[in-house]
Amino acid sequence: MSAATSTLDELKRELGELKDLGRIAALLAWDQQVMMPPAGAAARADQLSTLGRLMHVRSTSPELGKLLDAAEPVAAGLDPDSDDARLVKVARYEFEKEVKVPQDLRAELTRAASESYVAWVEARKNSDFAGFQPYLEKTLELKRRYIECMAPETEPYDALLDEFEQGATAAEIRPIFARLKEALIPLVRAVGSSGAVDDAPLRRRFPIAGLQQIEQQVLARFGFDPDAFRLDPTVHPFETAIAISDIRLTTRYEVEGLESLFSSVHEFGHGLYERQIAPELDSTMLARGASLGWHESQSLLWENLIGRGLPFWERFAPELVDVFPELGSLGAAEIYAIVNKVHPDFIRVEADETTYSLHVILRFELEQEMLSGELPLSELPVAWNQRMHDYLGIEVPEDRLGVLQDVHWGIGSLGYFPTYTLGHLRASQLWQRISRELPDLPEEIGRGEFGSLREWLRENVHRHGMKFMPKELQERVLGGPIDPEPFLARLREKLTGIYGQALIP
Ligand code: ZN
Repeated sequence: MSAATSTLDELKRELGELKDLGRIAALLAWDQQVMMPPAGAAARADQLSTLGRLMHVRSTSPELGKLLDAAEPVAAGLDPDSDDARLVKVARYEFEKEVKVPQDLRAELTRAASESYVAWVEARKNSDFAGFQPYLEKTLELKRRYIECMAPETEPYDALLDEFEQGATAAEIRPIFARLKEALIPLVRAVGSSGAVDDAPLRRRFPIAGLQQIEQQVLARFGFDPDAFRLDPTVHPFETAIAISDIRLTTRYEVEGLESLFSSVHEFGHGLYERQIAPELDSTMLARGASLGWHESQSLLWENLIGRGLPFWERFAPELVDVFPELGSLGAAEIYAIVNKVHPDFIRVEADETTYSLHVILRFELEQEMLSGELPLSELPVAWNQRMHDYLGIEVPEDRLGVLQDVHWGIGSLGYFPTYTLGHLRASQLWQRISRELPDLPEEIGRGEFGSLREWLRENVHRHGMKFMPKELQERVLGGPIDPEPFLARLREKLTGIYGQALIP
């Protein structure tokens, strides 16, 4: 074995063990939310915190720094797109980020997040923003210190964004969001209160056994392979990968209509992304999605472009009616209209595709104003409610349904929300390219066949894992930056079909 190979092998062994520790933590977290009896909570918190500490020590160790120093000259001699060269590059990026933040600040951020979470749960229950405000104040203060360590020279918000979407900047997101606002607000105003779509047939609780049956039929068609996937009920659905051959999806059934089906389909999109990463990356840190915004593009593609599409319902409406005979003669076109109905509402996670981004934009704007100090926290609820009025035309009755609804600020995650909308926009950009390259896809979906779509996604997006930075992958797959126009064009076409030309501004 040459010296060069052994240098790389040593680095890969160290990174591989770090990857293992991360996946063990993911398995413990999955178990905590899916299987663990409630009395295990305290012990589990200790176990996860021990693992977190071990991972932090090893991922910032001087030894890892030396291994990287030694591997970089070797990697410089490789094809820059090779797995090894990319691994060294990504490992260096993450190492530098980790070591920039002092250990005591990391610990304070973690502690503040868990204290804040407890306060947020209580505050939301009582709709008591004042009870949560000091914790949010503390979060902001720690975030400002974090930003000072990370990137004092850039716009402050960018250091927060970078945690979830590497390389993204507020300056490039602002004009995209401005364009969305300009197009979406009039659309919502025009059709949001229209009575044109009667959603009564699906506004009911279906028996769980039936929901599980239709979900199994759908996921089996999508490519849910029981040898590599699991699906379990939980409270807040999520997906996690323990390995590319061990994908855990979750969903929840205590919801109205077909929400549990869409939730499963959404998480399947996340899971398929990780399932189709190239096997040779599996033991490395490259074996995960490129960013949150890329991950969300995959879940939303399956949820909104497939699962809420007309061809899908042409295939599955008869199967749904077979499972729930009480739906009578409900057909594909009616289901399609109902599951795409525009309904301005308070709660982001229940929003439809048209109003969703307005919820995100409101949060993106408020986060920047809070961070800069321009908006005093005592005025946050008023600012929130004013923007809900301006963007969605609704009056928030209490903070539980407004500023306190999301867990994100409760656990100190600022800069996260924009990735949802980046995912929406990327999904539509991908769809535009897929529709060109797979012209028979609507017929295939109508026959319940998804193989060519899966292969397209594997070849163009999934297999790379996080070999490429989000923007590099964007350039490679979509040939240009994030663009809101394909999303807006598709939305307009869809709403024109459902609501009629006359209503669409
Ligand atoms: Zn998601």
